[in-house]
Amino acid sequence: MPDDLYERYQAAHRAYQQHAECCSPCTRYIPDCPEGARQRKAFERLQDAYTNRLKRPNR
Ligand SMILES: [Zn+2]
Repeated sequence: MPDDLYERYQAAHRAYQQHAECCSPCTRYIPDCPEGARQRKAFERLQDAYTNRLKRPNR
C-alpha cells in the first residue's frame, strides 16, 4: 500500500528545497518570502503529521 502521507511529505520537502535554490532571500531552512513561507509551512505540517503518525501507528 503506497504511503500517501510520506509521499506528500517528501514532495513538499522537494518543492521547498527547489524554491529556496531559486529564491535569493530564502535559505534551505529559513523562508524569507511569502511563497517560501507558505511552502515551508506546508512542509512542516506534513512533517509533523508524518512523525506524529510514527509515534501512534494505530491512528
Ligand atoms: Zn522565497
